[in-house]
Amino acid sequence: MSGVLQREIKYLAGVGEARARLLEREVGVRTIEDLLMRFPYRYVDRSRLFRLNELDESMESTYVQLRCRVVGKSYVGEGAKKRFVVEVSDATGQAELLWFHGVKWIEKRIEMQREYLIFGRPSIFKGRVSMVHPEIEPVEVALSRKVESNFQGIYSTTEKLSQMISVKMMHTLVYNAWQLVVADSTAFVEPLAEDMRRRLGLMSLKEALYNIHFPQSAEKLKQAQYRLKFNELFGVQLTIQARRSSRHQRGGGFLFPRVGEAFNSFYRDKLPFALTGAQQRVIKEIRADMISGKQMNRLLQGDVGSGKTMVAFMSMLLAVDNGFQACIMAPTEILARQHYASMSRFAEGLNIKLAILTGSSKAKERRMALEGIASGEVDILIGTHALLEDRVQFANLGYVVIDEQHRFGVEQRAKLWTKNQQPPHILVMTATPIPRTLAMTLYGDLEVSVIDELPPGRQPIRTYHYFDSMRLRMFGFLRQEIAKGRQVYIVYPLIKESEKMDYKDLYDGFESMSRDFPLPQYRITVCHGKMKPEDKDAAMAQFKRDEADILIATSVIEVGVDVPNATVMVIESAERFGLSQLHQLRGRVGRGGEQSYCILMSGDKLSKEGRARLEAMCATNDGFQLSELDLKLRGAGDIHGTQQSGDAFSLNIANLATDTQIMELTREEALRVLATDSDLAKPENRALRELRDKYRKRETIDFSDIS
Ligand code: ADP
Ligand code: MG
Repeated sequence: MSGVLQREIKYLAGVGEARARLLEREVGVRTIEDLLMRFPYRYVDRSRLFRLNELDESMESTYVQLRCRVVGKSYVGEGAKKRFVVEVSDATGQAELLWFHGVKWIEKRIEMQREYLIFGRPSIFKGRVSMVHPEIEPVEVALSRKVESNFQGIYSTTEKLSQMISVKMMHTLVYNAWQLVVADSTAFVEPLAEDMRRRLGLMSLKEALYNIHFPQSAEKLKQAQYRLKFNELFGVQLTIQARRSSRHQRGGGFLFPRVGEAFNSFYRDKLPFALTGAQQRVIKEIRADMISGKQMNRLLQGDVGSGKTMVAFMSMLLAVDNGFQACIMAPTEILARQHYASMSRFAEGLNIKLAILTGSSKAKERRMALEGIASGEVDILIGTHALLEDRVQFANLGYVVIDEQHRFGVEQRAKLWTKNQQPPHILVMTATPIPRTLAMTLYGDLEVSVIDELPPGRQPIRTYHYFDSMRLRMFGFLRQEIAKGRQVYIVYPLIKESEKMDYKDLYDGFESMSRDFPLPQYRITVCHGKMKPEDKDAAMAQFKRDEADILIATSVIEVGVDVPNATVMVIESAERFGLSQLHQLRGRVGRGGEQSYCILMSGDKLSKEGRARLEAMCATNDGFQLSELDLKLRGAGDIHGTQQSGDAFSLNIANLATDTQIMELTREEALRVLATDSDLAKPENRALRELRDKYRKRETIDFSDIS
């Protein structure tokens, strides 16, 4: 890219020092290129004029354009509250325009009985339309100006920025920047070869940039968006695929050819239940990877309760049978301890050695784990992120399992496989399905296994939504279930494990519950994130041994806790939880043969999305369906990992969670190019190399090595 793009924004007509400073501080725009690379997030059709009686509540946050006559103007209020109010009307109604700042300037420009074009976001209260700080211009002035496009781009802004740069001014600045760039024919390098563009029907980069800012038609806008998304994802794929092939060249994966003693005797004598078809299939898939000579990178998706732990354990036995160590990393202390307990039980009589290491391991436990792992005496290490510490040195680590991977940061995971010279095989397990595109980006090029079947005999959990006003009914129901010998969870929202708030919520809730619902006859235990790990464990263990009827907890129990006799999950303030969390919590019940229930308590006032989440929970038990809905409700930006990886790639327009098709296409195209020029060293691929380097991720993280 040439000089003009790197020119500082302050020299652009209409900007100046003060605005330049604000632009840089508020939205990080310093150069002409920065400005042109911020695309509108919405467009307003400026050929469209609304009549006042067409406006309704549903349009409150959208921009509209009105054509009205001024019928009154006055000052209202005093001091800081003083505002300038302009009454306007069209043939269908009246509206009020309000200014709080810049009042003098605007007052001079408003003439009684003159007609204006007004542009802004209406608010409607009791049928009255008002607009704060609209843009306003005499009709004949507005109409005589030549517009670049009828679709006016709306650029994201901040409160401070919008005070100094209006929607229209931003548009003008972008236009001025564009004029500079167009005048310089060397400003843009088209990275894609002509024949590739023709074959894929892609607009040129220059035309796409023009149309993204100044769409010449709805169709052109669509093509422009497509081209720009393609550009970004192609850059991302060139990076990912190049790394992947260098990883494959660097060396293969460990070979685990033997199915030996540990696996066989466990399978023959100790397996506590018949594996489901899905579990068998997944174990075979893992085994196939382990004898392929390539390093395994596998994501295992399986709904809550589908039996992923057993798959993890049995595949770890495969590693052990071949003389390698294996480890499993769980996101919480409770879960790690639970894995340790159940796996120790599984491993009895197998002649293999297990150890556990967590942040709260006492000296002896820690020493046993560290020494055993370093000497090779320990075969399987179970733990939390404490496994990542530098002093954890394996003698011969061959296989790593990461449980509930969504709880770990990318960097944390990356650390695990630097624990060996040659990278171990990796299995990442999750109950929260990740959209395929996102998975491809987050994990380079991974294989996916799915457990799409629950162990037999499970009855679907029945889910109900009660408003707080129906609390007595809920208590009555708990009584019935406890009378049958069942156990109950009551969960309060937790925002962050250490926050005081949650603690308070839990205890307030607990107290008010004890008032309304006398519980002396019940045995209650409490578990929350502020407790010491050993106290948490003690509380959980008590509940697990059926020495408590009710476990009152924050969502520390969200993942993995396994108490088959618990049949009721009450979730307080359920509207405050996300869908996947609700689903995870619900998965704590329904683990035995008894009918289980999930009761979602909520306040009477629910947001639209809050209501949709609770309705979805009542309608389905299918985690995959829920995660798709979650994606729709929240938008891709909020899905775990999207933001993280999108930022890492500094994507402007492509969306890792939803642009699946383009991602697939760019992947194919990247592989095609790299097949003949893996380093993009050929002169004709120079522009592609630049594109690749532009979307290179932060140097420290190599996503493609993260399973
Ligand atoms: P998740 O996939 O959520 O991690 P778990 O591995 O904790 O699920 O398994 C949930 C429960 O189902 C556990 O109590 C486990 O022992 C049991 N389970 C797993 N596989 C089977 C099976 N094939 N048949 C019966 N019960 C099973
Ligand atoms: Mg699990």
